[in-house]
Amino acid sequence: MQLCFTVDWEDWFHGLELPDEIRKKTERRIKIGHDILLNTLERHNIKATFFLVGEMMEEFPELVDEIILAGHEVGCHTYTHPNLTTISKETLNNEIEKCKTLIKDHNISYKGFRAPFFSITKKNTWALHLLKEQGFEYDSSIFPGTTFRTGIVNAEKNIYSFDNGLVEFPISNFKFTTLDIGIGGAYFRIAPYKFFAAQLKKLLDKRDALFYFHPWELDPLQPHLKGMKHRNVHTHYAFLNKTERKLELLFNEFEFAPLQDIIQKHVVQA
Ligand SMILES: [Zn+2]
Repeated sequence: MQLCFTVDWEDWFHGLELPDEIRKKTERRIKIGHDILLNTLERHNIKATFFLVGEMMEEFPELVDEIILAGHEVGCHTYTHPNLTTISKETLNNEIEKCKTLIKDHNISYKGFRAPFFSITKKNTWALHLLKEQGFEYDSSIFPGTTFRTGIVNAEKNIYSFDNGLVEFPISNFKFTTLDIGIGGAYFRIAPYKFFAAQLKKLLDKRDALFYFHPWELDPLQPHLKGMKHRNVHTHYAFLNKTERKLELLFNEFEFAPLQDIIQKHVVQA
């Protein structure tokens, strides 16, 4: 089975759920991880899919051009990175509209969408209808299992299509004791590499999978904000100084195919 590499292209503070007024004033550091990530992907000849946060696209259009020029796919990761379980359909629609205007400046259009925090759950399946209305071909937002924020227990883990034709590429994960361990992000940083790689191999015996990642995971010197919830701090900052080395191990050991190739295979089969 095949594995693809996906990037939620956002700055270090987007995962911390900061109020708007603080987020707007916070130090921008996306270029630090962005440069390392693009170089590493190029060295290993890997074509990835980058789900872009609109407000960063607006501030750093030249970095978006670099992503496109390097031959990676781009998808939408909303404009301000809200948790979708906390916003209305109208607000999400506005977020997507802003992103679509911005991406037009780069002469391309989106095929795929990823919700911040994997926040499409049983409570907001309206989002899947909106994505179809907005012309997306696929979504990659549903975590089949539980995370401390979101997830849908017992949801399908293979790629599938909804009745409206929208394709879902769920967030890949495996069971360890009672936990659902996602393939990527903090799970990858916290788990010992050999254990993680062995579990990923087992998973690839069963189904196509995706790895998810963020540029800020390659920025160990990012600031610590005061007063954050303990759980956020623990998972956000864990082992950032080891990520670059671990990513190198992963890229040496596994082959990665473009996400589009994997989805096409499933669409043809269906
Ligand atoms: Zn995100």
